[in-house]
Amino acid sequence: MKIFTKPARAALNDVTSAVTDTADLLQQSGQLKRGYGLASGALAFFLAALCFLGVLAFHFPQYLTTPELRREYNPDVIRTIMFAAMVLSGSISLLNVAFGRRRSLNGMAGLLIIATLVLGGSHVPVADFPDHTPYIGLDWFILDLLGSTVIFAGIEKIFPLYKGQMLFRREWQTDLVHFAVNHFIVGLALLTVNFVIHRLFGWMASDTIQNAVQSIPFVPQLLLCILCADLVQYCTHRAYHEIPFLWRFHAIHHSAKTMDWLAGSRQHMLELLITRVGVLGALYVLGFEKNVMDVYIVVVGFQAVFNHANVHLPWGPLKYVIVTPDFHHWHHSSDDVAIDKNYAAHFAFIDYFLGTAVRGQTGFPEKYGVVGDYVPDGFTKQLVFPFRSQKND
Ligand SMILES: [Zn+2]
Ligand SMILES: [Zn+2]
Repeated sequence: MKIFTKPARAALNDVTSAVTDTADLLQQSGQLKRGYGLASGALAFFLAALCFLGVLAFHFPQYLTTPELRREYNPDVIRTIMFAAMVLSGSISLLNVAFGRRRSLNGMAGLLIIATLVLGGSHVPVADFPDHTPYIGLDWFILDLLGSTVIFAGIEKIFPLYKGQMLFRREWQTDLVHFAVNHFIVGLALLTVNFVIHRLFGWMASDTIQNAVQSIPFVPQLLLCILCADLVQYCTHRAYHEIPFLWRFHAIHHSAKTMDWLAGSRQHMLELLITRVGVLGALYVLGFEKNVMDVYIVVVGFQAVFNHANVHLPWGPLKYVIVTPDFHHWHHSSDDVAIDKNYAAHFAFIDYFLGTAVRGQTGFPEKYGVVGDYVPDGFTKQLVFPFRSQKND
């Protein structure tokens, strides 16, 4: 029995080959050639994919949005951004398809925009919904990916460290999956970290210490907060380098062979959780004020990404005080001089004081990654790697 008519079969074949072609393209890396509809098609597809995920988040906010985040943003602004992205992506993909440029990629972008429209586009009404459902941080993923791409890819373009470095450099897919998963599990991570902190550190909290800390004015209190966080981070980071079992987890972060803003996302989720428990546990015991903690979260979020970016700025003597991309790039270098150095995440002077700073280097690292290059590529392989590999300790 024939289920499809001839034209329907032909259309289905077209869609299938467009999906296969686009999937193949997403497996690749390299330069986006101008004039072939590839760069604009990639932009159209990127925006269309985010719009499609966005419309799903509007339909299922209780399962796909982050309570802590949705309290901070205005849904009307998000709707406007989404509408603009749909118009831009739809126009680019339509033009490229019409002119026969990269039809499969642009066609897929167009199909995603049509699917988004069918599902209600940027006008999906949101009714009251329960607040305490299990969720994945899809909204956090969409907004952070869009914002970070605009901000950090923009800075990388204006002040590049390695000028010829491509946007779609090798292994970008692995880092994007790390980025996505780290954002999706934000709810679980917050819950776990809060639970463990209260269990482990609750008995240490003292009103006397917390009152003393909260009596410090905002700016010095913020600097103290960042310093305390960095000292804890320095210790855990150094332990990850010096204790062989822990290194197997941290080697994932160091396995990036090309540095850019997305490379910082490559991190084993257990390492992420353990470091957060240590750092936030110390800050909880000391009892910093909420507005100080809010700014600290922004600072740590910015530096964690920025320090990996392919960016070079004239820092002058400031590079001995704060951690810059120059400083953290050396931490990722596989050059002999840089092994187990530059541990700090905020204040570079910590490494200079403790004798673990890379000294005497005026240029930039020649090689990045793990000496011996034994960490596999791919998110799942990297997730299980620490539990399997013993031989490179
Ligand atoms: Zn490290
Ligand atoms: Zn790093």
